[in-house]
Amino acid sequence: MKKMRAIRNIRLCTKDCLCLYVCPTGASDTENGQIDATKCIGCGMCVQSCPSHALSLVPYEYPAQQVKEPAMIDDLHRLISSKSKQESAMRYLKQHQQDPIIMQLAQAIETSNRVMAEDLAREAGYMLPQSQNTHTLLQMIIETVDDENIKKMAKELVKLLPVND
Ligand code: SF4
Ligand code: SF4
Repeated sequence: MKKMRAIRNIRLCTKDCLCLYVCPTGASDTENGQIDATKCIGCGMCVQSCPSHALSLVPYEYPAQQVKEPAMIDDLHRLISSKSKQESAMRYLKQHQQDPIIMQLAQAIETSNRVMAEDLAREAGYMLPQSQNTHTLLQMIIETVDDENIKKMAKELVKLLPVND
Protein backbone atom coordinates (compact mmCIF):
# COMPACT_ATOMS: atom_id res chain seq x y z
CA MET A 1 0.00 0.00 0.00
CA LYS A 2 1.22 3.53 -0.84
CA LYS A 3 2.34 5.45 2.25
CA MET A 4 2.60 9.02 0.94
CA ARG A 5 1.11 11.20 -1.73
CA ALA A 6 1.74 14.72 -2.99
CA ILE A 7 -0.57 17.66 -2.44
CA ARG A 8 -0.36 21.16 -3.97
CA ASN A 9 -1.01 24.47 -2.26
CA ILE A 10 -2.51 26.36 -5.17
CA ARG A 11 -2.04 29.68 -3.41
CA LEU A 12 1.73 29.22 -3.71
CA CYS A 13 1.84 27.58 -7.14
CA THR A 14 3.12 29.92 -9.85
CA LYS A 15 2.48 27.40 -12.65
CA ASP A 16 6.15 27.23 -13.59
CA CYS A 17 5.36 23.63 -14.38
CA LEU A 18 8.62 21.99 -13.32
CA CYS A 19 6.60 19.36 -11.48
CA LEU A 20 4.94 18.33 -14.74
CA TYR A 21 8.30 17.41 -16.25
CA VAL A 22 9.72 15.45 -13.33
CA CYS A 23 6.60 13.49 -12.35
CA PRO A 24 7.16 9.91 -13.54
CA THR A 25 3.45 9.04 -13.62
CA GLY A 26 1.75 12.17 -14.97
CA ALA A 27 -0.10 12.66 -11.70
CA SER A 28 0.56 16.40 -11.51
CA ASP A 29 -1.90 18.64 -13.33
CA THR A 30 -1.35 22.37 -13.06
CA GLU A 31 -4.37 23.25 -15.17
CA ASN A 32 -6.88 22.14 -12.58
CA GLY A 33 -4.48 22.50 -9.61
CA GLN A 34 -4.97 18.85 -8.67
CA ILE A 35 -2.64 15.95 -8.12
CA ASP A 36 -4.26 12.71 -9.19
CA ALA A 37 -4.01 10.53 -6.07
CA THR A 38 -4.71 7.39 -8.10
CA LYS A 39 -1.55 8.01 -10.16
CA CYS A 40 0.73 9.53 -7.49
CA ILE A 41 3.29 7.04 -6.12
CA GLY A 42 4.64 9.42 -3.47
CA CYS A 43 8.16 9.57 -4.92
CA GLY A 44 8.61 13.24 -3.91
CA MET A 45 10.29 14.32 -7.17
CA CYS A 46 7.77 17.15 -7.62
CA VAL A 47 8.34 18.39 -4.06
CA GLN A 48 12.08 18.66 -4.68
CA SER A 49 11.62 20.42 -8.01
CA CYS A 50 9.05 23.03 -6.99
CA PRO A 51 10.63 26.51 -6.73
CA SER A 52 7.62 27.88 -4.83
CA HIS A 53 7.43 25.24 -2.08
CA ALA A 54 3.87 24.63 -3.20
CA LEU A 55 4.09 20.86 -3.00
CA SER A 56 4.29 18.58 0.02
CA LEU A 57 4.08 14.90 0.70
CA VAL A 58 1.41 13.82 3.16
CA PRO A 59 0.88 10.37 4.65
CA TYR A 60 -2.19 8.26 3.92
CA GLU A 61 -2.30 7.28 7.58
CA TYR A 62 -1.67 9.89 10.22
CA PRO A 63 -0.04 8.97 13.53
CA ALA A 64 -2.02 9.32 16.75
CA GLN A 65 -1.90 12.76 18.32
CA GLN A 66 -0.36 13.50 21.67
CA VAL A 67 -2.96 13.83 24.40
CA LYS A 68 -3.22 17.41 25.64
CA GLU A 69 -4.32 18.50 29.08
CA PRO A 70 -7.66 20.39 29.12
CA ALA A 71 -5.97 23.33 30.90
CA MET A 72 -3.45 23.62 28.08
CA ILE A 73 -6.21 23.51 25.46
CA ASP A 74 -8.08 26.27 27.35
CA ASP A 75 -4.95 28.44 27.37
CA LEU A 76 -4.42 27.82 23.66
CA HIS A 77 -8.03 28.81 22.94
CA ARG A 78 -7.56 32.05 24.88
CA LEU A 79 -4.41 32.82 22.90
CA ILE A 80 -6.14 32.05 19.59
CA SER A 81 -8.95 34.40 20.54
CA SER A 82 -6.46 37.14 21.41
CA LYS A 83 -4.54 36.72 18.13
CA SER A 84 -7.78 36.76 16.22
CA LYS A 85 -8.86 40.04 17.87
CA GLN A 86 -5.47 41.60 17.07
CA GLU A 87 -5.80 40.46 13.47
CA SER A 88 -9.24 42.12 13.22
CA ALA A 89 -7.95 45.31 14.85
CA MET A 90 -5.10 45.54 12.33
CA ARG A 91 -7.50 44.91 9.43
CA TYR A 92 -9.66 47.76 10.70
CA LEU A 93 -6.63 50.04 11.11
CA LYS A 94 -5.44 49.21 7.58
CA GLN A 95 -8.85 50.03 6.09
CA HIS A 96 -9.09 53.37 7.90
CA GLN A 97 -5.57 54.63 7.27
CA GLN A 98 -4.14 56.84 4.53
CA ASP A 99 -0.49 56.64 5.62
CA PRO A 100 1.15 53.92 3.47
CA ILE A 101 3.73 53.04 6.10
CA ILE A 102 1.10 52.47 8.78
CA MET A 103 -0.96 50.48 6.28
CA GLN A 104 2.02 48.25 5.51
CA LEU A 105 2.79 47.81 9.19
CA ALA A 106 -0.85 46.94 9.92
CA GLN A 107 -0.82 44.41 7.07
CA ALA A 108 2.34 42.80 8.45
CA ILE A 109 0.90 42.55 11.97
CA GLU A 110 -2.44 41.24 10.61
CA THR A 111 -0.68 38.47 8.66
CA SER A 112 1.62 37.59 11.53
CA ASN A 113 -1.34 37.27 13.92
CA ARG A 114 -3.18 35.06 11.43
CA VAL A 115 -0.15 32.75 11.12
CA MET A 116 0.28 32.58 14.89
CA ALA A 117 -3.44 31.85 15.39
CA GLU A 118 -3.24 29.02 12.85
CA ASP A 119 -0.19 27.55 14.58
CA LEU A 120 -1.93 27.74 17.95
CA ALA A 121 -5.05 26.13 16.47
CA ARG A 122 -2.91 23.26 15.23
CA GLU A 123 -1.32 22.94 18.67
CA ALA A 124 -4.76 22.86 20.28
CA GLY A 125 -5.70 19.91 18.05
CA TYR A 126 -7.67 21.77 15.40
CA MET A 127 -6.75 21.66 11.74
CA LEU A 128 -5.20 18.21 12.18
CA PRO A 129 -7.14 15.97 9.84
CA GLN A 130 -7.10 12.96 12.15
CA SER A 131 -8.40 14.79 15.22
CA GLN A 132 -11.87 14.45 16.72
CA ASN A 133 -12.09 18.25 16.65
CA THR A 134 -11.75 18.25 12.88
CA HIS A 135 -14.40 15.55 12.57
CA THR A 136 -16.76 17.48 14.80
CA LEU A 137 -16.25 20.53 12.58
CA LEU A 138 -16.86 18.49 9.41
CA GLN A 139 -20.00 17.00 10.96
CA MET A 140 -21.23 20.50 11.78
CA ILE A 141 -20.62 21.52 8.15
CA ILE A 142 -22.57 18.47 6.92
CA GLU A 143 -25.50 19.33 9.17
CA THR A 144 -25.63 23.10 8.74
CA VAL A 145 -24.22 24.18 5.37
CA ASP A 146 -26.66 24.53 2.45
CA ASP A 147 -24.14 24.13 -0.38
CA GLU A 148 -24.44 20.50 -1.58
CA ASN A 149 -20.91 20.43 -3.02
CA ILE A 150 -19.37 21.47 0.29
CA LYS A 151 -21.52 18.90 2.11
CA LYS A 152 -20.36 16.20 -0.30
CA MET A 153 -16.68 17.13 0.20
CA ALA A 154 -17.10 17.14 3.98
CA LYS A 155 -18.72 13.69 3.86
CA GLU A 156 -15.86 12.34 1.75
CA LEU A 157 -13.28 13.77 4.16
CA VAL A 158 -15.01 12.14 7.12
CA LYS A 159 -14.83 8.81 5.28
CA LEU A 160 -11.21 9.25 4.20
CA LEU A 161 -9.78 10.45 7.52
CA PRO A 162 -10.58 8.16 10.42
CA VAL A 163 -10.20 9.68 13.89
CA ASN A 164 -6.85 8.84 15.43
CA ASP A 165 -6.59 10.91 18.60
S1 SF4 B 1 6.68 23.15 -9.79
FE1 SF4 B 1 5.58 24.13 -8.08
S2 SF4 B 1 5.13 26.22 -8.80
FE2 SF4 B 1 5.66 24.97 -10.61
S3 SF4 B 1 3.70 24.22 -11.39
FE3 SF4 B 1 4.51 22.62 -10.03
S4 SF4 B 1 3.58 23.13 -8.01
FE4 SF4 B 1 3.35 24.94 -9.29
S1 SF4 C 1 5.09 12.54 -5.64
FE1 SF4 C 1 5.99 11.66 -7.52
S2 SF4 C 1 4.25 10.62 -8.51
FE2 SF4 C 1 3.36 12.00 -6.99
S3 SF4 C 1 2.89 13.87 -8.13
FE3 SF4 C 1 4.96 14.12 -7.23
S4 SF4 C 1 6.39 13.46 -8.83
FE4 SF4 C 1 4.35 12.68 -9.38
